[in-house]
Amino acid sequence: MTASPSPVWHPFTQHALAPEPPVVVRGNGAWLETASGGRILDAISSWWVITHGHCHPRIVAAIAEQAGQLDQVIFAGHTHPAAEALARGLVAMTPEGLDHVFFSDSGSTAVEVALKMAAGYWRHTGEQRTRILALEHGYHGDTIGTMSVGARGVYNAAYEPFLFEVTRLPFPEKGREQATLDALEAACREAPAALLVEPLILGAGGMYIYGPGVLAEMAAICARHGVLFIADEVMTGFGRTGTLFACEQAGVVPDIACYAKGLTGGSLPLAVTLCRSAIFDAHYSTDRARTFFHSSSFTANPIACAAAVANLKIWAEEPVRGRITALGDAQEERLANFRDDRRFANVRRIGTIAALDLVAPDPGYLADVGPRLAAFFRDEGLLIRPLGNTLYVMPPYCTTAEDLDLVYGAIATAADRFG
Ligand code: PLP
Repeated sequence: MTASPSPVWHPFTQHALAPEPPVVVRGNGAWLETASGGRILDAISSWWVITHGHCHPRIVAAIAEQAGQLDQVIFAGHTHPAAEALARGLVAMTPEGLDHVFFSDSGSTAVEVALKMAAGYWRHTGEQRTRILALEHGYHGDTIGTMSVGARGVYNAAYEPFLFEVTRLPFPEKGREQATLDALEAACREAPAALLVEPLILGAGGMYIYGPGVLAEMAAICARHGVLFIADEVMTGFGRTGTLFACEQAGVVPDIACYAKGLTGGSLPLAVTLCRSAIFDAHYSTDRARTFFHSSSFTANPIACAAAVANLKIWAEEPVRGRITALGDAQEERLANFRDDRRFANVRRIGTIAALDLVAPDPGYLADVGPRLAAFFRDEGLLIRPLGNTLYVMPPYCTTAEDLDLVYGAIATAADRFG
């Protein structure tokens, strides 16, 4: 075993097995460029964050302008125009009823904030409710709290003793949705604090898609029992599922919603947790013990907020919805070639996200074929990072038909080689 010459410890990377990483020096649209002049097609939007393409000129300009004006200011007891504009813009574009915006720095912290808001809401309204309901296969981040609410498995087995217990509901598989709804109904009778879900698609847990009908029914059950409904739209937000937000497709207004990744168009780390007035009001008091005790040093960093404001303008002024629909349709056409291919199972798509499972003797995140697939795509100049034997494509919205041909051509070759 040879140690990496670099002191960098990479995320979700087994250094004993990983090849030397490419040194990426430039990004433009759907493409990355390496120090040695190589080109890489970013077919997973660099961990699902890049929406309009790398280095979108309007976002780059907004960052530059803000950086020259105000780089950072403490956000406790202070505010700045970019945060105010962003908060107002988000309240206007998210489902009606989400009226308060709390800033943080990553998807995980947005979810942690949501859990703390839920706990605070119940405590301050006089009930000791802390039990969280969550879906099997869910993923909400890698902090202790978000690992607790995510599915248990290889990602978090080593940290199990640190994790708190949640009530896990079966995934609402097509045709078996009633089992989920029944389990939810039963769990709600025990007076839990909240149900936390990734709406319409569970991402890192395996790209499991479910329908808007069952999402709406889950929200309705929660409403009937007075259980808070938390939508983790960290991955699905900002267009991935074909609408601006996934909850729109179910006509659902969550009590609390989390957004991150595409919030800045993917350019800078920033997250928000929005909530209904009832949650804010439960904390609003002359009693200082009811303060919402959460912050991080860079809360609402002005440069990140300015990037997000530019992203909102792009949504308002450019034909982003048309691009998303076209990208979804173009993927559907190419996926059709794999639907009858017995080397693949569960060929599926929602909006701009496509996924298919290469049939493997040991399916799952640790499937033997996973690293071999990753190495193959890398050699082909493609950034595709399979989840074990599950291949997925989640490209930036500027990805062209020719780019997609490269992606799906490589997937076909991968099947010939490893299927
Ligand atoms: N929630 C969901 C649904 C996610 O997909 C992710 C990341 O992939 C997270 C939360 C965590 O976000 P972050 O990696 O920014 O902490």
